Amino acid sequence: MHSLFQELDDLDGKSGAADSLLSTRKRILVPYPVDKAYDYAVPDDLDLKDGDYVCVPLGGREVTGVVWGEPRDDVASSKIKAVIDHYPLRAMPKLHRDFLDKVASYTMNAKGSVLKMSLSAPGALTPPKPVSAYTLAPQIPDKLSDKQSAVVNVLADGEPLRASEIADQAGCSTGVVNTLLKNGVLTLVERYNPAPCKNPDAARQGPTLSDSQQDAADALVRSVRDNSYSASLLDGVTGAGKTETYFEAVAEALKQGRQVLILLPEIALSNAFLERFKSRFGCAPALWHSGLSSSMRKTTWRGVVSGKTKVVIGARSALFLPFSELGLIIVDEEHDPAFKQEEGTIYHARDMAVLRAHMGNIPIVLVSATPSLETIHNAWNGRYNHLILADRYGGARMPEIDTIDMRTARKDAQHFISDPLIEAIEENIEAGQQSLLFLNRRGYAPLTLCRSCGHRMDCPRCTAWLVEHRNSGKLHCHHCGFFAKKPEHCPSCEDTDTLVACGPGVERIFEEAKEIFPEARIMVLASDTADDGESLRAMLDKIRNNEIDLIIGTQIIAKGHHFPNLTLVGVIDADLGLQGGDLRASERTYQLLHQVAGRAGREDKKGHVLLQSFMPEHRIIQALASGARDDFLSIEADEREMAHMPPFSRLAGIIVSGREESQVIETAKMLGQSAPQGAQIQTLGPAPAPFARLRGKFRYRLLVIADKNIDIQKTVSAWVSQIKTPSNVRIQIDIDPQSFY
Ligand code: ADP
Ligand code: ZN
Repeated sequence: MHSLFQELDDLDGKSGAADSLLSTRKRILVPYPVDKAYDYAVPDDLDLKDGDYVCVPLGGREVTGVVWGEPRDDVASSKIKAVIDHYPLRAMPKLHRDFLDKVASYTMNAKGSVLKMSLSAPGALTPPKPVSAYTLAPQIPDKLSDKQSAVVNVLADGEPLRASEIADQAGCSTGVVNTLLKNGVLTLVERYNPAPCKNPDAARQGPTLSDSQQDAADALVRSVRDNSYSASLLDGVTGAGKTETYFEAVAEALKQGRQVLILLPEIALSNAFLERFKSRFGCAPALWHSGLSSSMRKTTWRGVVSGKTKVVIGARSALFLPFSELGLIIVDEEHDPAFKQEEGTIYHARDMAVLRAHMGNIPIVLVSATPSLETIHNAWNGRYNHLILADRYGGARMPEIDTIDMRTARKDAQHFISDPLIEAIEENIEAGQQSLLFLNRRGYAPLTLCRSCGHRMDCPRCTAWLVEHRNSGKLHCHHCGFFAKKPEHCPSCEDTDTLVACGPGVERIFEEAKEIFPEARIMVLASDTADDGESLRAMLDKIRNNEIDLIIGTQIIAKGHHFPNLTLVGVIDADLGLQGGDLRASERTYQLLHQVAGRAGREDKKGHVLLQSFMPEHRIIQALASGARDDFLSIEADEREMAHMPPFSRLAGIIVSGREESQVIETAKMLGQSAPQGAQIQTLGPAPAPFARLRGKFRYRLLVIADKNIDIQKTVSAWVSQIKTPSNVRIQIDIDPQSFY
């Protein structure tokens, strides 16, 4: 990297002699953490226009870049290198380039870093190579096994398919395909992977909508027909059928020949969701998420760029795909914290999606049962259309929510499931229905202490406790990935067998539940028990097939899932998110618990939710139990207004980090001394971050609070840029911070 930056400095140009051979120049932006585009010479045989994808030399390597406007004239020619090649692709639209520029300036990230998110499909720029696929031979023998006939049926329409696609669609292994090839029933051909989701069928009849669904769908369809920017909040209870409703808007955009982007939190990208899309539009959507194979990534990226891929359903990074015909954006579960990228290039995908819709003059729909305060505020003040689905679809009732006062119901420090909850589960199992115990904590116990000396097992690299996992027999740090065998002796007093587990994680609840319900079929569902899409899918199928009586799960189970036979939800620790005093602690707790509660009784059987709490009179617990969401939100909004916090002010978080604590403190102090302070803008800190150490780095924070009319980016940029930072200290800026760790 060093030589790269050296060269970028050189490209910035100082002196040198003129060179007339390469007279045309263009500015090229490269996907590296640089804030400007650099001049390159254009060879005579290349005709480049803005947005073209090119290959340029940089730091002794050949890298991808995008033509980003006219050159600056003051760069000396001797420093200028020539563009190597032009990739034969539809140029990145001006709108998309403007969007990236705007994202960079709003989020205060380097332009090149933002561009990198649009080029996140390595190898996609060069034309794809053909892959082997199979078609039917002219002669098909009569005698075939069931599996073999299934393969023949799948290929009957003449479209060549890859072995994995055939296996998938025919429900067999690829071995069957091989055998048929050997027997001459199949022939091998070459094919290019087609763009995914090329022909979704918008004319298909959707389900018959209820009156309120229809009203909301009509409003959304109108917003698509209007062909201009509008933002709508589709605000409906869990199970209201929000998906079916916004699919109508998707259909309308498709009828107009436009592309559609549906953003979802990564863990909500479930198979069930894909199935619903398929049954509505007759084909699978294009997917975009971190687990995609590199070849799918390439094909999808090219499909989006060419405009052939019509619908992308993706996690936050899908927003940066260079769409050419984007006509509608949906942000489902818009309140979800996963839309905020907290590392590297920090941005909020929901907010940037609104920006994208605005710049592209297209509608955007934000969807939630528990809208974020920012969004509901915009709905209340009329900036967003507010479409409400007040009831569950098909007459299903909202679950009844009760609290269990743990001050009296708790048994002892080693047990976490109270008697009333045990009774409810017993009854539910007897009735042949499913129950869920929710605890948002992986592992066995969040804290390990020495009974003799009180020593606490901490992560050596983070300000965090080590979490015991009995499955692996290890203590893990959930922040940096550090793990170690649980020692037999206390590392401090060296006593033997004195380390005790404190507090529960899902594994411990599982252990307790096994003891209480020895006959029950129990499953733990957490990101480490379902560590890939495949096993998660299998586990969800088991639940749906009624092979499980009791699920013990973290937030991985809280979102989006629809289990018809799940009627009881027990929340082990409803107070868990309320500690800490983070700006959004109450809001997040409300959202998460509401989502979890929403898993209960989604069809004809009524759902029941029990919240175990040590503070049942807390207003959040009360609001959950009484279903008074809007009251809760308006009190929350009042409090934010009084505290001069968003959405009534603007925030910027400044995080100073590095391996040398003294350097970090010194830099943070320097920042503090020159920080913006005034009537309309104040700065708090520096103070050690709640995670004063993370992955071995020391961290200090400052927080800038500004009136809404202040250009906070401009102020922060002027302030931070005049601070001299040692090379191993990093200053990160987080505009509109969501978390403060
Ligand atoms: P939400 O996203 O609002 O929580 P869903 O979209 O998951 O709700 O809908 C809940 C269930 O009701 C799903 O199984 C869905 O297929 C079904 N459903 C919703 N609306 C309709 C409709 N108009 N016709 C048939 N089924 C519907
Ligand atoms: Zn750690």
